[in-house]
Amino acid sequence: MQRFHHAMADEHQRRRELTRDLQSAVGTGQFELFYQPIISLWRSELSGFEALIRWRHPQRGLVSPVQFIPLAEESRLILPLGEWILRRACGQAVEWKFEQRGLSMSVNVSALQFEQRDFVQSVQMALERSGLPGHCLTLELTESMVLRDIGLAGRHIRQLKESGVRFALDDFGAGYSSLSVLQSLPLDHLKMDRSFLQACRRPDSKRPRLVLETLVSMAQRLGLTVIAEGVETAEQGELLRHFGCDSAQGYFFGRPQPADEASSWMFTAAGS
Ligand code: C2E
Ligand code: MG
Ligand code: MG
Ligand code: MG
Repeated sequence: MQRFHHAMADEHQRRRELTRDLQSAVGTGQFELFYQPIISLWRSELSGFEALIRWRHPQRGLVSPVQFIPLAEESRLILPLGEWILRRACGQAVEWKFEQRGLSMSVNVSALQFEQRDFVQSVQMALERSGLPGHCLTLELTESMVLRDIGLAGRHIRQLKESGVRFALDDFGAGYSSLSVLQSLPLDHLKMDRSFLQACRRPDSKRPRLVLETLVSMAQRLGLTVIAEGVETAEQGELLRHFGCDSAQGYFFGRPQPADEASSWMFTAAGS
């Protein structure tokens, strides 16, 4: 019990320190975007990248977004940070000539950011400033965040869709999924949580496979493109192709990598 209290106190302390450090990290170049390729399975070619934030903490080294994004939300630092992420990702997409290449940049949006009254304007501003056309930007939302206020979510999505921006439902099936989100929101892509693929690896994977196959066809009948997350092996890629899944993302195709590596990766992939 004593030990447990110590562990709790340590955790509390760690969170406090990280939050404090976050404050000074915003605006001092400690953040960096990594880029992970998204592959179209039909054409076996690149369809875009997902931007994933990394924090190079001066003492702790790389801190995972799983650790600091929740702290950034609690302290509202996610608002300036989120704007920086959007600007950076759009700027990179212009630099990499996404429009000419027919590629899209996917950016994760946090709940607090999405709920802001000026969210639509801040995205439009990032597009205008960078010169990226809206159809080259995909925003990734999660079910829990759109369910907080589905009316607001619908309005924000519809307004941005007028500028061509696309929307993906991230981590679909990871939590208490609600099919009502699919009924009511005009989404473009469904990103299937990697737990579905993991379940297909179990020895008796008949049911998980059926679930996966059914999900793919349901999403497609709703007019959504399905992107499978967490593809780590060639077999998983094959399985997805077999089930008619549209796109995939995972270590098998490419890890999240710093901009310079992602860029040389893209040029070799395009040249091959
Ligand atoms: P996510 O948006 O679902 O991103 C996918 C996560 O899966 C990434 O973790 C990625 O590195 C990891 N991943 C990709 N392929 C594989 C694979 O084959 N196997 C396994 N095991 N994992 C794979 P990461 O970069 O640590 O990000 C974690 C989460 O943090 C993201 O989940 C997203 O929710 C959040 N996040 C990351 N960057 C941002 C950001 O810029 N803004 C916001 N608001 N959230 C972000
Ligand atoms: Mg994502
Ligand atoms: Mg995801
Ligand atoms: Mg995830």
